Amino acid sequence: MTISFKALCPICQSVKLFACKDDFFSSRDELQAKDCPYGFCVTRERALAAVIRKEYKPDILIALKIHEAAPANRGMSIWLKKNCPRYIQSGYFPNKQFGDLIGNLRNENLESQTFLDGQFDLVIHLDVLEHLFQPFEALREIYRTLAPDGKCIFSVPTEHGLFDSIQVAFARADGTVEISGTPEYHGNPQDENARALVTWKYGYNLPLLISRETKFDVEVRRFQSRRASAAGFMTEIYILSK
Ligand SMILES: [Zn+2]
Repeated sequence: MTISFKALCPICQSVKLFACKDDFFSSRDELQAKDCPYGFCVTRERALAAVIRKEYKPDILIALKIHEAAPANRGMSIWLKKNCPRYIQSGYFPNKQFGDLIGNLRNENLESQTFLDGQFDLVIHLDVLEHLFQPFEALREIYRTLAPDGKCIFSVPTEHGLFDSIQVAFARADGTVEISGTPEYHGNPQDENARALVTWKYGYNLPLLISRETKFDVEVRRFQSRRASAAGFMTEIYILSK
């Protein structure tokens, strides 16, 4: 079913006309307002923005110490950079010194971070966890870097119809990678010529795995929401509370 509606964009906070050729399968990538001043509003970014704006009042949000891992240069990442003075971004450059700044990005291996304990109020990442070999190690590291009451809010593709999350690529001790099945790649926000290998396919049990593997409390929100201008599959936003 075609959809077309006006809504207050949770990123740019102006009323936009959102449209898509169907209200579910295409909505994840194609439900858009073409004139968003933040470089398109991608559905998962609006879903994340809607959650953040519900969790934090505006004056609290702009004062937060925020770490975003592997940001794309659009949407909520641009809004946060512009409006939150204590927002920082990290990237992953394995051949360079961790902890250093590479351009505007702090070089961090999410599975073994150089950040101090308890230094952030909020850690966010959009579709990053499916590219890590040790996602739960990364989430434990995020937990360590969060202040008491801190939150990690993220999106990750969650396969509809899949219960058990499956690791599909493994890092061997000799540095090579073992892939089971047909390798899948996504775009890499750090480098448009590079591709990011999918290492995990996450199913319905991801919240259970997170609660077993970390000390986080887990909540998941899925959207079929004109108010949040977010609809379709793989729009889950995970809210982890310390
Ligand atoms: Zn917008």
